[in-house]
Amino acid sequence: MKKEKREEESLQKTPEYPLRKLRHEMEKAQDAKRFEHTLGVEFTAAALAMRYGASVRSAQAAGLLHDCAKCLTDQQRLSICKENGISISGLEQANPFLLHAKAGAYLAKEEYGVEDQDILNAIRNHTTGRPGMSLLEKIVFIADYIEPGRNQAPGLEEIRRLAFTDLDRALLKILGDTLEYLEGGNRDVDPMTRNTWEYYAEKIGQQCGK
Ligand code: FE
Ligand code: FE
Repeated sequence: MKKEKREEESLQKTPEYPLRKLRHEMEKAQDAKRFEHTLGVEFTAAALAMRYGASVRSAQAAGLLHDCAKCLTDQQRLSICKENGISISGLEQANPFLLHAKAGAYLAKEEYGVEDQDILNAIRNHTTGRPGMSLLEKIVFIADYIEPGRNQAPGLEEIRRLAFTDLDRALLKILGDTLEYLEGGNRDVDPMTRNTWEYYAEKIGQQCGK
């Protein structure tokens, strides 16, 4: 009991997130399959943080919480956004599962006590990315795609290798493959996914042109 209280305090006051507690919370909030994915993203984000010199604990916290709103109902996700002034695009209104990232960032702050804006941004932007992502945002975005439980995406082996050798190229490849998959299947594409792809395609193109 005492220990739990201490952990709660540390959640408020320091960036040392009580990872064991967050893990436990996610196990309660998610079904078994989603929780397994969550642990995979935590683990992979930690490995990438080690590789690129980001905060390992922040990467773990963001990985643990990135899908914290995934096991809610669409109605719950819509209500969280509506009640808290979070904008909902037409695309999100029609596909409320897309809101799990925005709603997740809200819950990470309000329910799980995360105050670090970088972690909150990593959760918020983990499905579409955004131009000018931070190192932690890239790490969580990529970890979500390559964690050990994933096995569907084409070229996964190459992307996993790239993730540990060239973070921006891994990011661009994931975005490109995602666009191809969505557009090929005539599915709705969040314009932010394309914006992010264009931003990194240009960035990498400029680096190559030097
Ligand atoms: Fe997600
Ligand atoms: Fe995920």
